[in-house]
Amino acid sequence: MIITEEAKLKTLCEEVKTVKEGEEIGAKLLKELTETKTGIGLAANQVGINKRVCVINVKEPLVLINPKIVEKSKEKFVFAEGCLSFPDSKLKTMRHQDIVIEADNHSGKLSFSANSKEINDAFECVCVQHEIDHLDGITMFDREFKQEPIVKGVNAPKKIGRNEKVTITKGTESKVLKYKKVQPMLKDGWVLSV
Ligand SMILES: [Zn+2]
Repeated sequence: MIITEEAKLKTLCEEVKTVKEGEEIGAKLLKELTETKTGIGLAANQVGINKRVCVINVKEPLVLINPKIVEKSKEKFVFAEGCLSFPDSKLKTMRHQDIVIEADNHSGKLSFSANSKEINDAFECVCVQHEIDHLDGITMFDREFKQEPIVKGVNAPKKIGRNEKVTITKGTESKVLKYKKVQPMLKDGWVLSV
């Protein structure tokens, strides 16, 4: 059962003591995630287990036990996100373009980058940040990308740099590309997702 009360999702999760304990929780989470059919990630506290375990299933199933982000890029990008705990909400968030994480069940570091032609890389990179946030009691609403109200002459929209990464969407498809590559596509039905 996936918890849908925001207040309950604000609790900080505790580290699991052993990888074995984490693996048991991970297996349960993957089962729950598969049952949702549409979900790509799930954190233990979303099913009422306040332990630092989460699963991601974008390219392949990935269990993360006591994960932590050890490096994150200054570059960020805007992405449209959803959450199994808030099935009726979709919003634009700001996420780091590149992250490096560590987890007790993976030797060495794991890197995720949205700086790729493969849209699944962006999904996975966002999903890992989203799930680790859950374990810290942070929801996507805390990461919402809010455009400041435009006051003429004071904060007129910033020009997007040619090499700046942007998210574009067309129907259900979305891509993360450099703005210079996106410009011609905008005439072809793609919409800038900012
Ligand atoms: Zn979520």
